[in-house]
Amino acid sequence: MASEPRNMSALRYKPIKVKQLHLTQSELHSNPLITNNMELKKFNCCICGKEEDPNEWVKDCSEKLVKYQMCFTCNHWREQHELDHTTRGEHGWAVINGSHYTLYPHTNGIRGMYGRTYKIEFNDGAVVDCDNLWHQGDLNKAAKYWRELMPDNAVIRQ
Ligand SMILES: [Zn+2]
Repeated sequence: MASEPRNMSALRYKPIKVKQLHLTQSELHSNPLITNNMELKKFNCCICGKEEDPNEWVKDCSEKLVKYQMCFTCNHWREQHELDHTTRGEHGWAVINGSHYTLYPHTNGIRGMYGRTYKIEFNDGAVVDCDNLWHQGDLNKAAKYWRELMPDNAVIRQ
């Protein structure tokens, strides 16, 4: 795992409640990572320190990376954390051994995890059977910041 940057500017990051896809005009003009010609500069992620070139991504994505000064991976986890605490709701997501999952209702269409039924027991005692579970990734492979922000909240019962 990459070492954490010394000046842990991750503390500057405060999860927001409202999703905003594009930078506002004032954010565009005040952001030091954007030149006067509206070119995006390379930067180091404020969470893990990795160098990120926002120009490698499509506009919707690159603007978010610049807005939060995060690499692609850290921004992925930022979005997961925000969705967990806004639209997904209680028992709509789970972190199990560091793996992040979302729980969706049964559908006759494509189901996550090949449609296998999992019995998920949350830390609050709720037990949910889900045959449409989707995996967003392994927080154990992310910067320590995200693993600490998103501890396990459930286990799988067989
Ligand atoms: Zn990062």
